[in-house]
Amino acid sequence: MASLNWSYEGDNGPDQWHKLYPVANGNLQSPIDIKTKNVKKDPSLGHLHVTWNLSTCKEIVNIGHSFHVNFEDKDNRSVVTGGPLTGNYRLQQFHFHWGRTDDYGSEHTVDGRKYASELHLVHWNSDKYSSFAEASDKPDGLAIIAVFLQVGPPHECVQKIVTALGSIKTKGKKAPFTNFDPSTLLPGSLDYWTYPGSLTHPPLLESVTWIIYKEPITVSSEQLAQFRSLTVTNHRLPQPLKGRQIECSYV
Ligand SMILES: [Zn+2]
Repeated sequence: MASLNWSYEGDNGPDQWHKLYPVANGNLQSPIDIKTKNVKKDPSLGHLHVTWNLSTCKEIVNIGHSFHVNFEDKDNRSVVTGGPLTGNYRLQQFHFHWGRTDDYGSEHTVDGRKYASELHLVHWNSDKYSSFAEASDKPDGLAIIAVFLQVGPPHECVQKIVTALGSIKTKGKKAPFTNFDPSTLLPGSLDYWTYPGSLTHPPLLESVTWIIYKEPITVSSEQLAQFRSLTVTNHRLPQPLKGRQIECSYV
């Protein structure tokens, strides 16, 4: 497998990633299956505080195996604090994972249940580090907020993203994407699970505090089909928990 030449299917697929990235077999790999009966309620875990300023939303980019919506992250205009986090974590980008059909595509699963897609909002610890690159391999470097997507009526704000995909049809293309408020992609209930894990694709760094909202949002089958027009599938299967404790906010 050539350097960086990894993929989601075939000879360079997820079951081969460990050859170039040995941490693929590490102790803190993501995603995982969340077995709800083993989750520990932690009364000290408060609500997450999301402050996302729509002025920081910048562009949408086709990166081949996915697309990213990138944010200006030179200052703390868009941050998440609270919950399991200490200090400010600055929003850098968000992206989705999906599958070949609507029956699967989420990376995390809940008691074995697969959702059609999963949103990842990627943040880095701007109190301790000076950039995403510096934070990305530190144990407290990254925080990713995840939201499950299930099939139902179309989602008005996801549609803004789907429409923008029309202008980034090939790898490397980018287009301005501004004045978008990512909090419109969050569910109504802010209850979450949290656990220590990793990036879900190479370099698979074990630097992520995962915060996964329990309640899914709903998108249409047509909207998911538009995701697939970029690439057919881009999700990693659940990895061994290896003794980690999943916690949830006290409800
Ligand atoms: Zn992701």
